[in-house]
Amino acid sequence: MQPVAATENSIHQAIHTTAEEALSARPVMASLIRPFVNLFLQKASCITRLDFDTWTEDLKGAHDRLLSGIPILMTLSLEPWRKPLETACEWMLPAIREAFPAIGGDIEAVTAAYRNDNLPLSRLAEEYLDGSFTHYESSAQSIGVSADTLAFVMNTVLSTVLEAFAPRIWAGMEDVRWSKGNCPICGCLPSVSYLAKPSGDAGEFLKDSGGKKFLHCALCGHNWRINRHICPVCDNTDAELRFFLSVPDYPGERVDICRKCGFYLPCADLRERSAMPHLDTAAVCMVHLDILARQQGFKPLSYLTWNRIENGIEFPQDISS
Ligand SMILES: [Zn+2]
Ligand SMILES: [Zn+2]
Repeated sequence: MQPVAATENSIHQAIHTTAEEALSARPVMASLIRPFVNLFLQKASCITRLDFDTWTEDLKGAHDRLLSGIPILMTLSLEPWRKPLETACEWMLPAIREAFPAIGGDIEAVTAAYRNDNLPLSRLAEEYLDGSFTHYESSAQSIGVSADTLAFVMNTVLSTVLEAFAPRIWAGMEDVRWSKGNCPICGCLPSVSYLAKPSGDAGEFLKDSGGKKFLHCALCGHNWRINRHICPVCDNTDAELRFFLSVPDYPGERVDICRKCGFYLPCADLRERSAMPHLDTAAVCMVHLDILARQQGFKPLSYLTWNRIENGIEFPQDISS
């Protein structure tokens, strides 16, 4: 079961439904959730307008690299992505400024640098993917913003482009069995997982009680199946060392924790939910479970804008109670 929402309208609907369900349970989280909802809505609109044909990168050899365990985009130049990255900047920079007015000045500075051709977009995108961030400090300094803000901007812009292209990049690779904890397309870690409902197929239904586990990439949005009985970080198979936390009355939301490696990952349990959520929105809406896990000394698998608790995001007092 893949949560593919085919049109802009259906993605928007899924974002709204996911957020409203969470906010009806925890209205105190509105000030945290709404800015991300607005960002995701704009991202969905941009994605439907990005033209994959502008990207001419040759994927020959990607299938073989994947078979040997190398994510598809890890070794490729992103220079041919310049045009879609620019389109994503045009759409997403104003949305970031509006959603997060506290960094509005920085976003204006990034926008001016981009418009003056003073932002090496494809190089910054490559460094984001390979995790080196070599030129982030110097680029940020040259335009007078923090490297963190520049990384947040690049995360938003690159993830918009990747999410648009990921289904096309994955076409022809479906036969590859990928059971790692990082994404087979972009190599990034997941922001959230989900446990699938039983398949709707009557014949299969009898032998399929659901609960197949999928990871959702924090950057490109790709979903891939993993063994639900193994920790995706350290391959721990000891059930005694794996457990989950949830809050009463909301069994569709939980956070899976491994005591062996100390990492946790929020999980949407679709067997306990009426519909497939928009997974990025669902991840933000489970931040109260992030807090629960952090309070017990566990670490997030992915540090995301909304769960970098120690880096300045302030939560209303009673979210974590
Ligand atoms: Zn990915
Ligand atoms: Zn583990």
